[in-house]
Amino acid sequence: DPIIDIRGLSCTYQDRGTVLRDLDLSIKPGEFVLLTGPSGAGKSTLLRCINGLFQHDGIQGTATGDVRVCGKDPAATRVCDLARLVGTVFQDPDHQLFSSDVESEIAFGLEQLGTDPAKMKGRIDEAAGAVGVGHLLQREVNALSWGERQRVAIASVVAMRPSVLLLDEPTSGIDQSGAGHLVSVLKRLNEETGLTIVVAEHRYEHFSRVCSRLVSVQDGAICYDGPPVSAGLQA
Ligand code: ADP
Ligand code: ADP
Repeated sequence: DPIIDIRGLSCTYQDRGTVLRDLDLSIKPGEFVLLTGPSGAGKSTLLRCINGLFQHDGIQGTATGDVRVCGKDPAATRVCDLARLVGTVFQDPDHQLFSSDVESEIAFGLEQLGTDPAKMKGRIDEAAGAVGVGHLLQREVNALSWGERQRVAIASVVAMRPSVLLLDEPTSGIDQSGAGHLVSVLKRLNEETGLTIVVAEHRYEHFSRVCSRLVSVQDGAICYDGPPVSAGLQA
């Protein structure tokens, strides 16, 4: 069964018109999908329908069609339950980091979920270790580099053990070597935990080597869906 199942999704912003056109997309558990296409193609909007933020953020527009994650409609899922369903890492990590030190940052979401205090430390270490920030737990978030803050944001989301992980333009704020590091961190996370990952990036070079599938969006519709190599040759 697909873990993400989208049928006939169309999205319109009030002041912009149609952004997604009757889109179908089905993603299986454990896939690592690179969602690519030019800026303005509709990638972020698609992510916003998968994580329910299109509705939960009260965006002025309409989304029609059927979106299911683990059989549930994210738009109809209570915000407090969404974190377990879909984890989202936004472009700018500072938009989702609130605590002074790294350990408290990762603990925050777990506390919101009512995690057993006895299991807290283990869950924090597990998430921090998975994305290579285990050595930064006692550090001030503000003193970290962009790439480190981004990995802390990922750890905070992953700690809540979401069914799927979405990342929107994750390499846009980091240099070439930082991007390479991020790619290998996500690849390992996907391989070792089986977490389903969808990365939206207008550049495909960073993730095309590691993703299992490439979905290219142009003008609100999917124009390529298949193995990453042949798409790379086309582009
Ligand atoms: P991408 O992520 O591929 O760059 P987006 O989904 O962000 O594409 O945007 C698709 C189109 O929708 C763009 O023309 C963008 O300006 C427009 N758009 C995105 N968000 C909004 C919004 N909140 N209100 C109005 N228009 C929007
Ligand atoms: P991305 O390219 O990563 O999708 P954008 O620059 O398109 O990012 O959008 C950044 C933010 O600005 C998003 O929250 C989006 O909803 C908002 N936005 C984009 N285009 C518009 C628009 N035409 N009107 C209102 N908000 C917009």
